[in-house]
Amino acid sequence: MTDTATKEPHTGSANTYPNLIGGREIASENTFESRNSSRLDDVLGRFPEATKEQVREACEAARETFKTWSRTPAPIRGQLIGQIGKALEREKESLSRLVTREMGKTHKEARGSVQEAIDTCQFFQSEGRRLYGQTVPSEMPRKELNTYRRPLGVVGIVTAGNFPIAVPSWKIIPALVTGNTIVWKPSEDAPAVAYAFAKIIEEAGVPAGVLNVVFGGGKGAAGEFLVDMMDEGLLDKFAFTGSTAVGRHIGEVAGRNLLHPTLELGGKNPLIVMRDADLDNAVEGAVFSAFGTGGQRCTSAGNIIVDAPIYDEFKRRFLERVKQIRIGDPNEHDDVLYGPFINQRFYENWQKHYEWGGSEGATLLHGEGRIEDGKAPEGYVGDPSAAYYGWPTVWEGVKPGMKLFQTEVFGPTINLVKVDGIEEAVQTANSVDYGLSSAIYTNDREWAHHFKENIEAGMSSINNTTVGAEAHMPFGGVKGSGNGTRESGIWVIESYTYWHGVNDDVSGKLQLAQMDTEYVEPKGEVDVANLF
Ligand code: NAD
Repeated sequence: MTDTATKEPHTGSANTYPNLIGGREIASENTFESRNSSRLDDVLGRFPEATKEQVREACEAARETFKTWSRTPAPIRGQLIGQIGKALEREKESLSRLVTREMGKTHKEARGSVQEAIDTCQFFQSEGRRLYGQTVPSEMPRKELNTYRRPLGVVGIVTAGNFPIAVPSWKIIPALVTGNTIVWKPSEDAPAVAYAFAKIIEEAGVPAGVLNVVFGGGKGAAGEFLVDMMDEGLLDKFAFTGSTAVGRHIGEVAGRNLLHPTLELGGKNPLIVMRDADLDNAVEGAVFSAFGTGGQRCTSAGNIIVDAPIYDEFKRRFLERVKQIRIGDPNEHDDVLYGPFINQRFYENWQKHYEWGGSEGATLLHGEGRIEDGKAPEGYVGDPSAAYYGWPTVWEGVKPGMKLFQTEVFGPTINLVKVDGIEEAVQTANSVDYGLSSAIYTNDREWAHHFKENIEAGMSSINNTTVGAEAHMPFGGVKGSGNGTRESGIWVIESYTYWHGVNDDVSGKLQLAQMDTEYVEPKGEVDVANLF
């Protein structure tokens, strides 16, 4: 948000947008700008830096609305989710264009990410007609046992900017259908998409104060203020997508308040290519896993682990393909594989890895840092000074002990790691502290099985990329990638409800489980050997 464009910025007539609190539009004294990731002189709008008092007000508004929203029949809540899905479908094209403009992913990917939010609505629309509990037999006569799913209360949500609509929908939609109310602090990297999404939810008929949106930064700003609300007792649940460092902090605050947070964090995802793989397919999958979205996905591949007998051939084909990658402004070019960094912060964080690689003795096969005039790869189209674009970067000679192997760089960089055989491949894949996604290219059933059983990851693909999610499959990681919670599909419902067990006794007398239960005594032993 404090991006300094390489060109003189002209802030033009960009509008200032408000926080959305309790159905009211509330401005803040301080504001920040959102810029087109591909053309930093294009300002999308100014957004408020919500104060702590405003964040508190949003939590209080959500608490007040919880009283009515939680009692709204779940099928009606589901119907509203359906309306959100329809509005998203209607606005799909404009929203996708906005995602591309603000965040810089290609239009094809942006359309996919809006579709994922639509799919999420379609899945949860009818969940409002299920939300099943159980009827359970009692050990006492004239007593009924039932379980009910209950909403948790007010959910604080903080999200990252690389998936500005799909990832928030994974949290907001199930939280709403299960009867919770929300305070959402979207990423300062993509506030315009968040604002548009919030307006669509409002249009669908979700009552004022059910979804409250506060804008601003993370540390020392709206994000941290929202985390502080757990200590003030104003939140009943926290759901976060972002870096592992911030996730750990949120987990600590949630833990001392006895809240179970949803934590979807970073990744350094392995992609294994075995000696029997279909190499054309593996190279295509590896290129997209590493460089799709400019490597700015939590599921982007970080290490490509290649079986020794095909290492040289894979490397040759992969590099040939990397040299052809088209890069440029995705607002103007439909054929680019990736666009710019989301902003300067992401570029600067990525750039640091060039130092590690050099000092650790890895070999740079391709890549020269920032793309500039006179220093651009063959496939670059456009004006590189308009934004921050990175060279597709490939290292080899990378080993598990190296920082380059271990650390998420969140940019267009991949490491080639040579191994010998399936056991070493999986062991190497597991030697990172993360465990989000993973992939293997092989046609050997035993190797695929070994991978499935032994890989330490929340998500795995066989003969497909490390990236990509379907709205009805569980999404999440293990180890440094999360705390075991899952988003999407039926699994996410556990994150936004608690089970309420109810005993209903109509016997009209005191009857105590275990103590007054009429257990049946065995009648004596049957000696089968002496029966005949
Ligand atoms: P980040 O953790 O810096 O920021 C994410 C969000 O947290 C932003 O809204 C930010 O304002 C807020 N934030 C930052 N510091 C905070 C603090 N101290 N207290 C409260 N809120 C704070 O992450 P980023 O660099 O913006 O995003 C990239 C990261 O997100 C990568 O690590 C990526 O892997 C991860 N990510 C994970 C998933 C997933 O589902 N696992 C999806 C997308 C991105």
